[in-house]
Amino acid sequence: SSIMSIPDTDIIRTLFMKGIAATVTQTLDIATATMVAQELGVEVETGQREAEAKKITEMIDADDLEKLQRRPPVVTIMGHVDHGKTTLLDAIRKTKVAQGEAGGITQHIGAYHVDVEHEGQMQQVVFLDTPGHEAFTAMRARGARVTDIAILVVAADDGVRPQTIEAISHAKAAEVPIIVAINKVDKEEAQPDRVKQELTEYGLVPEEWGGDTVMVAVSAISGENLDTLLEMILLVSEVEDLYANPDRSARGTVIEAHLDKAKGPVATLLIQNGTLRVGDTIVAGSALGKVRAMVDDRGQRVKQADPSFAVEVLGLGDVPAAGDDFQVFDDEKEARSVASDKTDEQRQSRLLQAMSSRRVSLNTLSARAQEGELKELNLVLKADVQGSVEALLGALKQLPQNEVQVRVLYAAPGEISETDVDLAAASDAVMIGFNTTLATGARQAADRAGVDVREYNIIYALLDDIQAAMEGLLEPEL
Ligand code: GDP
Repeated sequence: SSIMSIPDTDIIRTLFMKGIAATVTQTLDIATATMVAQELGVEVETGQREAEAKKITEMIDADDLEKLQRRPPVVTIMGHVDHGKTTLLDAIRKTKVAQGEAGGITQHIGAYHVDVEHEGQMQQVVFLDTPGHEAFTAMRARGARVTDIAILVVAADDGVRPQTIEAISHAKAAEVPIIVAINKVDKEEAQPDRVKQELTEYGLVPEEWGGDTVMVAVSAISGENLDTLLEMILLVSEVEDLYANPDRSARGTVIEAHLDKAKGPVATLLIQNGTLRVGDTIVAGSALGKVRAMVDDRGQRVKQADPSFAVEVLGLGDVPAAGDDFQVFDDEKEARSVASDKTDEQRQSRLLQAMSSRRVSLNTLSARAQEGELKELNLVLKADVQGSVEALLGALKQLPQNEVQVRVLYAAPGEISETDVDLAAASDAVMIGFNTTLATGARQAADRAGVDVREYNIIYALLDDIQAAMEGLLEPEL
């Protein structure tokens, strides 16, 4: 607005005319900003390269840039237990899929898609079928980024609960936009406004209160507003950079995999770039194979799968793990050699992990701080009681942060869980425990993922270590 000398209300109006509900504080993607500027008669010259650079991801190469097309958003549902995640997933699936489908028979393959009419066009939204931030972060800890948008389900009769807060932290750590579904509004005890109020404490402010979080009051039981929720998903995805090049060989991530007695290894693959076809030679994790058959989420045999869609694939020689990446190779020899390299890689990383080499530790971060390479020190914090959590957060804030900033991804009272460890692993964070213990399995998970778990009983010892790390003064690890 200030550069163009055009009032921000004009910009918002222009966006509104294009069907984009934006607020004053909202950041627009470059394509949308360019469109608005042109609508308002301002010529846009630069920034093209920046826009293109943004589209390059782990899955998209520079070679793809000229052939990029929009792809559907991939959505994960998160929230506290019993707030209605599963019911919501089923409700969306039933209302949208059962109509007109062959008997409404659906197949649970780990993901499903729905068709939504949006701005006069049929568009798709893909939902990952395993709800919860645990699965989301476990995948991320393995290096897989599959979710474009997180739906945070909060029951209107119960409000913000511990796992709601966890889910918010996990989505934020992943920098995934959040849409809030305030669920169970059919109930008499529902208090949607109270939920909104509570959410503001965690940085989620509804648009009608001047914030930029989309919130929709829904009922998974009565079906109320589910269409609006889907529309909002499409609106939010418009400002995200969701592109793929359908005109190349496929790559993506394994969503689920198991061994079927009759069919052999069965894996659900989410296509994140390119198009997957029957007959393609693929490497998934370290498993090699040729796609023998593909079944989609509606139980139909298909010959090809497009970007953002998931298909169940038969023909792999082995069972990959959820979160593994997969790739198609034109040359079978190359595929064979990549698969065998990956087997070696896996063996080696298991060996390294057995030697407990850490991906990130307070000491390695300290070394990076000394080199001036560290901008943020990520922490996940668990303490005995809420009072300790607050005391620690307050004290951490007081530390000088000119060079390096402390970023607490998640802080809560309780034991250190495997999910906490996954969050630390996925975000290159150090896990801090204060007057608390590790839950069963958390230590092993930390060793496996190479997460540094630091346990303290004295607040000053903790603060001293963190400050020393930020200043690059911790002794290097032996
Ligand atoms: P999850 O643990 O988050 O997956 O929650 P579930 O989907 O299992 O739902 C927990 C309970 O809440 C179930 O008994 C559902 O029937 C109920 N429930 C879910 N959504 C709604 C809703 O919109 N309205 C009402 N009244 N009950 C709901």
